[in-house]
Amino acid sequence: MSLLRQPILLLSRSRQAKRLLSTLPVSSGIVASYVPGESTRSAADAAARLIDGGLTVTLDFLGEEVAEPEQADATVAAYKDLLEQLATRGLSRKSEVSVKLSAVGQSLPVNGYKVALENARAICRAARNAGTTVTIDMEEHRTTDSTLQILRELRKDFPETGAALQAALFRTEADCRALAHEGSRVRLCKGAYLEPEDVAFQSRVDIDRSYVRCLKVLLAGDCYPMIATHDPRMVQIASSLASRYGRAQGTYEFQMLYGIRPDEQRRLAESGETVRVYVPYGVEWYGYLIRRLAERPQNLSMFLRSLVSKK
Ligand code: FAD
Repeated sequence: MSLLRQPILLLSRSRQAKRLLSTLPVSSGIVASYVPGESTRSAADAAARLIDGGLTVTLDFLGEEVAEPEQADATVAAYKDLLEQLATRGLSRKSEVSVKLSAVGQSLPVNGYKVALENARAICRAARNAGTTVTIDMEEHRTTDSTLQILRELRKDFPETGAALQAALFRTEADCRALAHEGSRVRLCKGAYLEPEDVAFQSRVDIDRSYVRCLKVLLAGDCYPMIATHDPRMVQIASSLASRYGRAQGTYEFQMLYGIRPDEQRRLAESGETVRVYVPYGVEWYGYLIRRLAERPQNLSMFLRSLVSKK
């Protein structure tokens, strides 16, 4: 792990830093390289460009840990608007949406579970009406049980709903086994949050080993694995395991974030793989950007330069 990862990730919890850094416009160099815009229109335009280039997308309306039910309602309205635009523009067959449960109410002090479940259900319904699906993002480890419980509830009516699991957590191999049954869509990522030693692997080597163990469980199972990583080694290992387990292209997919390794996204797509790009949009880009900077501290100086010049 980079020495800078922990201090950078701690910034994501600082309200003062958020107030200062959020004054940057979304169009500023570093923000724009990870987030295509603030509006539904800019998100749908980015989706159209990527789909034209042979890729598929999952769109995320940025925001997390909402503190008021009205903010959660606003998030649901934003997803409904997006899903309508995707359907109208003929983009929904190659697009889906990613939802953070804390953006739809999970973190509310009263009835958080119930509100998040109802709001997520409303988004699943809108996605189905638009001809597409939802994947539930995974947030920090204290939300994992509640998130998987909500997933189970949603899958009763919307079995096409997927969820992300994080290889950094000790529990994830067992969670993969539980979800590796028919039809489940499971996104495997390394995990973007700062997690304590009693629940998570801390070293890159241990996280990578866990990632490979989880890959084996998912690729050997009957689920639809969504392999979310930019790591060239993990991509190569996933490809070999897919062949070893007799998986045809299209029975799993690779996923990468908007703006990260676009050449590799195209290369994989040209080799016949399904590649989905995660496209975040909206004004609440702060937490997302800090997690990306923590993964790539080399970008920190570029970020600080944008802050000084405010462009
Ligand atoms: P790393 O070991 O971090 O990186 C491997 C290589 O990728 C690096 O050497 C570098 O070449 C390149 N790279 C990595 N990051 C960057 C960057 N920021 N800029 C430029 N190059 C870079 N995490 C969650 O906790 N919950 C989620 O729901 C979730 N959903 C995700 C969905 C998708 C589609 C993806 C791709 C990631 C998601 N993540 C999520 C984030 C994930 O957990 C990791 O934090 C992130 O992907 C970095 O891990 P990595 O596998 O790319 O490997």
